[in-house]
Amino acid sequence: MPSTATRAPVSRRRLLQLSGASAAVIALGIDARSARSEPPSELEGAAAPEGMFSLGVASGAPRPDGAVLWTRLAPEPLAEDGHGGMPLKEVTVRWEVATDEEFRGIVAHGRALAQPALAHAVHPRVEGLDPGTEHFYRFRAGRELSPVGRFRTLPAEGEPAESFSFGLVSCQAWYHGHFTAHRHLAAEEDLDLVVFVGDYIYEYGITETNLWRQGAEVGEAHRVEIETLEQYRLRYALFKSDPHLQAVHARAAAVAVWDDHEVQNNYTGALSDTGIPEDDFAHRIAVAYRAFYENMPLDVAALPDGTDTDITDGFDVGSLARFSLLDSRQFRDAKPADAAEQHREDRTILGTEQEEWVGERLASSTATWNLLANGVVLVPIDEASTDMWDGYPAARRRLLAQMAEASNPVMLTGDIHKHVAAEIPADPDDPAAGALGVELVCTSIASDGDGAADAGTPETWTRHEYVKLYDGRRGYVHVRLTPQEMVSSFRVVDWIEADDTAPEQLRARFTTPAGEPRLIPA
Ligand code: FE
Ligand code: CA
Repeated sequence: MPSTATRAPVSRRRLLQLSGASAAVIALGIDARSARSEPPSELEGAAAPEGMFSLGVASGAPRPDGAVLWTRLAPEPLAEDGHGGMPLKEVTVRWEVATDEEFRGIVAHGRALAQPALAHAVHPRVEGLDPGTEHFYRFRAGRELSPVGRFRTLPAEGEPAESFSFGLVSCQAWYHGHFTAHRHLAAEEDLDLVVFVGDYIYEYGITETNLWRQGAEVGEAHRVEIETLEQYRLRYALFKSDPHLQAVHARAAAVAVWDDHEVQNNYTGALSDTGIPEDDFAHRIAVAYRAFYENMPLDVAALPDGTDTDITDGFDVGSLARFSLLDSRQFRDAKPADAAEQHREDRTILGTEQEEWVGERLASSTATWNLLANGVVLVPIDEASTDMWDGYPAARRRLLAQMAEASNPVMLTGDIHKHVAAEIPADPDDPAAGALGVELVCTSIASDGDGAADAGTPETWTRHEYVKLYDGRRGYVHVRLTPQEMVSSFRVVDWIEADDTAPEQLRARFTTPAGEPRLIPA
C-alpha cells in the first residue's frame, strides 16, 4: 500500500494476509491477473444454466489504473433458497475490458471463480488501464455474455481534472415503489460515479401492508424479517432484479457505504435495537456484512472476517477532489441512556481508529474538494435524533475540527428520506462562527413511497437558518465538481407507487464556489 493509505488500518492488515496466496485469491473470485496470452475459453466446472446474468453487472472502487468489476450468477434470482438457481458448484467466469462498446480494442481480460460460498459473485480488480478513460466491460460464463457495463478510470494522481460528476442516492425500499429515480439517474449525460450512502436493502418482512409497488408480487419467503445468509442473499437478489438499478450500475462505477438496514433498523455497533441477544446478533451481523460484500462491487479488502469488516475507502480524483467513505454504523457507541451520556466527551460514532484515519486524510489533502460520505445527518437538527450525529455531539465537534483543516469540505448523506441541503456550522454552539462546509442529504430512491414536498416534519429542519432545502419526495442528487465550483442539483419525481413513468423535475440547484462554504440558489 502507498503511504497515503486509502483505507483504514484494519483492512491493510487483511490485505497483507491475502496477498501472495494466489490460490486463495482465485477462490475468492477476485483473480485479476490478466492472462493476456490465454484466449477466452468455454465454461469450466459445472454445466452452466441459462440466464445467469439476471442481476446485471457493476463496477466499483475506481482508481486511475482500473476498477473492481462485479457480477453474481443467478439464473433464478428469486429462488427461495437464496442460491439464485445456481448448482452448488464452481463456475469459471471470464471478463474483458475494452475502450469501445463493440470490444474491438480489448485492453485487459482475465477470469475469476464464481463459487457457492460467495453466492457465485465475482469481484475481479482490473489494473493497468489508462487514467481518465472511459472503459467498457462484460463477463462470459458458459456460452453466455453479460450485459455491457462502463466506467471511467480516475484521472492520474495529482492531475488537474476539469470536472467530475456523481450521483448521490440512498434508501431503496424496493417494496415501497418503483426505482423511477434510478431510471433518470442512469440517463444523466454527465456521470462519472454513483455514491450509495446506505439502506441499499431493507430487512423487513414484505407483506400486504408495506408492498406499495403496484404490479409487484413476492412469495412466502419474503414475508418475514430476514436473518440468515440465504435470506439476505435473496433480499439483495430481489432489489437488484430492478432493471433501473441495474442500468445505474451498468452506467458508471459505484461506491457504497452502509447504514442500518443492511443489517437491522437502528442497530449500534454490536447491539440490536430490538433486544436480540448479542451472540445471536453477532451471527446476524456476520451474515449481513457478508451478503453486502457479495452483492456490491467492493474490493476484496472489504471481505468480512466474521463480524470484523472494513468498508471504508478513499480515492482522489486527480487534484480536484478527495473522497473518503465512512462507516458510521459498525463502530458507534450504543444509544445514550440520558443527556449526560449523550454529551460525554469520549462518545464515538466512527470509532477511534476511523477518526484518526479520516483526520489524517483531511489534514494531508491538497485536493480542492474534500468529500466525506456517511450514513447519517451531520448538522445539528434535534437533540432527540440520537441515531444521527446529534446523538454524538462530542464526536461531531472532533470531526468538524478535522474538516476545518481541509479545503472545501462536503458531507454526503442519506437516511432521512428527504432532500436536505445545509451549510455546516463551524461551531454548533456559536451561530456567529459561520459555516465551514456544506452537507448534501439525498432523499430516498423509494423508501416511504410517493411522499410529498412537505412530508414529514419540515419545520424541525427548516427552523435552522443553515438548512437551505427540504423536500419529502423521491429522487437523487447530481453533483458536478470543477476547480471553481460545486453545482448540486436536487432531482425529484412526483410518484413511484403506481408505475415508473413519472418525469423528473429539478427541485433545487445550488452553487458552492470554491473557498466559500455556501449554498447559493442557481
Ligand atoms: Fe432509509
Ligand atoms: Ca437508515
